[in-house]
Amino acid sequence: MVSTNALLASQNMLALLEKANHHTETILDELPSIFAIITEEGEIIRANQACCSLIGESTDSVLKKNLISALDQENQATFHYFFNKIKTEKLTREVNFRADIHPPISHKTKKIIWNISTPSKNQRTKNRFDNDAYKALYYITGEDCSSIYDSETKLLGIFECLPLGIIMLDNSGHIEEVLTHHTSVIIGKSSLKNKHISDVFSSLHPSTIESPTSNSSTASSIVHSYGEKNDFSDLISCINQPLIFFNKIEKKIKNTFNLKSEDKNHKSKWIRLHYQPIVKNNVIEKFMIIIKDDTESVTLQNEKKRINEIERHSKALYESAIRDPLTGLYTRLYMEDGFNMLLNGFDFGSINAIDLVIFDIDDFKTINDSYGHTIGDHAISIVGKQILSHSISGSIAIRYGGDEFLVMLPKENTHEPAGKHFAEKVKCGVENIKFGVNLNNNHISKIDEKQTLTSISLSGGVISCQKGENIMALIARADQYLYQAKKLGKNRINCEYDYTKNITV
Ligand code: GH3
Ligand code: MG
Repeated sequence: MVSTNALLASQNMLALLEKANHHTETILDELPSIFAIITEEGEIIRANQACCSLIGESTDSVLKKNLISALDQENQATFHYFFNKIKTEKLTREVNFRADIHPPISHKTKKIIWNISTPSKNQRTKNRFDNDAYKALYYITGEDCSSIYDSETKLLGIFECLPLGIIMLDNSGHIEEVLTHHTSVIIGKSSLKNKHISDVFSSLHPSTIESPTSNSSTASSIVHSYGEKNDFSDLISCINQPLIFFNKIEKKIKNTFNLKSEDKNHKSKWIRLHYQPIVKNNVIEKFMIIIKDDTESVTLQNEKKRINEIERHSKALYESAIRDPLTGLYTRLYMEDGFNMLLNGFDFGSINAIDLVIFDIDDFKTINDSYGHTIGDHAISIVGKQILSHSISGSIAIRYGGDEFLVMLPKENTHEPAGKHFAEKVKCGVENIKFGVNLNNNHISKIDEKQTLTSISLSGGVISCQKGENIMALIARADQYLYQAKKLGKNRINCEYDYTKNITV
């Protein structure tokens, strides 16, 4: 006899189960995903709200409708293909595939990713035993992925506009898909699909051009030399590995190639690859490879390098041409640039006043004639050293001719006798240097008794520059004062101005 308590308990249990079942029904109906249970023939025996609205039926009228026949012919074929797969259960108890459907109340085709699963064999055996009507039921879920596919189409449209090659590499290193028309243009080969990547990039060409050393973190500076066969094994070894595996060896994988072009002019190209792993559940499934024609940038880089080299050379050449090796002063070649720099500063107000000094060694011919040119050169170098040692900051000193020197000095104000002061110092400095002359072999040596001591003297002219006056006019004016100094007996400085009567040197 069943006790009253047990009867009550089972009644409660039944009520609870009924409630739970009702809840499940509500949840299924409110799911945004499509859900249906269909028979082997595709007949719907349960469908949630999302499924009903997809095929344009109410919750009642949907029952016994055929889900597959709601699709157009092409998509029906796809559906049947995967449905048969699961029905024969050769591969799996679950399949995912895309089949589109055009809902009667919508203008747009919905792109649906379907999932069909079947209960386990045990469950089915149990169901068959209980009720023959349940002998083969299939659970179907569907996700409307239209927006994802639309975005992908847009993205591919953008890809097409870019001058890039894009390919998908499968897990064996073969090209699974060519995503842009530009790919063949860059690589210079068509029918790339199903080819192995190492065959596509095997035609390496010897070249002296260096790969660009960009500041990117990629190993862009690695260049293939002639005969080096790259089989992309490093890259392929990353497939089916965790992403970290690729991150570790990314820099080692070569990505810059010099491709020998197969067109008539045999120009070689620089190709740069960017490897983008496609990851699922943190495991690399395949690679997207973005291909860029880098020829222009490499050529430009090399051209820049060449120009820099030329600039460096000409700068060195100019430097040596503007320096007089004997005195260390500037040569006449620099005079125009150097003097104009100061004169422009004077004209535009950054320099308050400028003096110009001209020196000429007195009776220099006699030095040459008496002791020879080596001694003459030494005398010139003495003058150069004196000019340099007394030069004020910002002044420019030129060896103008054989024994002639020009010095342009910027100064604080017009009445400052900077030029005269400087010229007197140099004159006295030169005058006071006694140098030994070995008359036997015409070279300068340490002073001893066998040697004659001699010295040289300088004459100079000093002028104050006027605004707008050009270099040659200035020199001509200074030269007149020098000429006067020579005429007055040499070894003297003749100045245009006399701001201070007594200059202490
Ligand atoms: P003055 O006092 O009037 O200037 O008489 P000077 O003998 O010095 O005459 P001038 O300035 O005209 O002579 C310059 C000489 O300098 C003529 C030339 O042979 C010599 N000379 C020019 N360049 C060099 C050089 O680089 N080294 C040497 N040793 N002599 C040079
Ligand atoms: Mg002279």
